[in-house]
Amino acid sequence: MPRPISARIHLDAVRQNLQLVKRLAPSSRVWSVIKANAYGHGIERIYPALAEADGIALLDLDEAVRVRELGWKKPILLLEGIFEPTDVETADRHRLTVTVHSDEQLALLKASRPRERIDIQLKMNSGMNRLGFRPGEFEAAWEHASGIEAVGSIGLMSHFANADDGAIDWQTDEFDAATRNLPGTRSLSNSAAVLWHPRAHRDWVRPGTILYGASPTGRARNIEGFELRAAMTLESRIIGVQMLAPNETIGYGRTFTADRAMRIGVVACGYADGYPRHAPTGTPVMIDGMRTRIVGRVSMDMLTVDLTPCPAAGIGSSVELWGEHVRVDEVAEPSGTIGYELMCALARRVPVSIDAGVTSEPETHTA
Ligand SMILES: *Cc1c(COP(=O)(O)O)cnc(C)c1O
Repeated sequence: MPRPISARIHLDAVRQNLQLVKRLAPSSRVWSVIKANAYGHGIERIYPALAEADGIALLDLDEAVRVRELGWKKPILLLEGIFEPTDVETADRHRLTVTVHSDEQLALLKASRPRERIDIQLKMNSGMNRLGFRPGEFEAAWEHASGIEAVGSIGLMSHFANADDGAIDWQTDEFDAATRNLPGTRSLSNSAAVLWHPRAHRDWVRPGTILYGASPTGRARNIEGFELRAAMTLESRIIGVQMLAPNETIGYGRTFTADRAMRIGVVACGYADGYPRHAPTGTPVMIDGMRTRIVGRVSMDMLTVDLTPCPAAGIGSSVELWGEHVRVDEVAEPSGTIGYELMCALARRVPVSIDAGVTSEPETHTA
């Protein structure tokens, strides 16, 4: 018997979250962002749920090739573009759309001889100050790109620094002013902008985290009003029970002291499974369908929970660490991080199964 911990990936949840994106941004096409191995869910596992997406966006060339090999015929966007000359050959061979954010990337394209022209997304640094051409140099970059033999269509994109706490107008205004005279599709919106900033939806939206049912702000309460479903459930079982007398402590560092007689469950899940070690006493967990809390310090392979609200629970009881009932953000926030990081950090040792729902394969005709 393996340890009882496992993760389940819910394809219907991803399908429904994608449908929600389409309802929220009805005039936009959707790049489904599946970078970092689909935010830890697994590209091959998630793939059947992406049939309704218009394109797939990621940033690792190997991942892009994997998506083509799965049979995806619609566009694939490399969010960081190309890094060296052979990448242009890969982009050509697999018909990848590449982000272009620097003169160095334009030079790589200029020096290349692809069989077919390569579609690009020209990226503006509108205030994030990570990647992209400054607004003042954007038109010149566009002129340069449009003169390059290897370049096909040119889309215009930018990325928001703080769409999750409200302010996007300053970046949107920069972008609009600097692209006023340029043709091409526009793409600005990450998940937060899809949910809260219709002004920025434009031709293509680029949601990532909401496809997986996590909150762009890292706070579960901010997405309560949307029907977003968790794409991942991390579950395990109780493997031990302890009766604590008043004033006894539990676990490493003795960080939790019982103020009364308490039943404690020991769960087969620890930080080596991807559960955050910084999760404090009080972090929610679901046992046999009842919400309770973890108590004491998370250790490598185990954590401990308060069984007071669930007196019938014992060895073998099922535990949801995060998923449908406990949002990943409810675990992330008290741990000082965001759901994104926890999903991406699911450990390799956790066995993963797929809850397929109603399957339908992505279409294989060319869009
Ligand atoms: C990761 C990423 C996204 C998706 O961001 P979410 O917050 O997960 O929706 C969109 N665009 C770019 C350029 C990205 O790197």
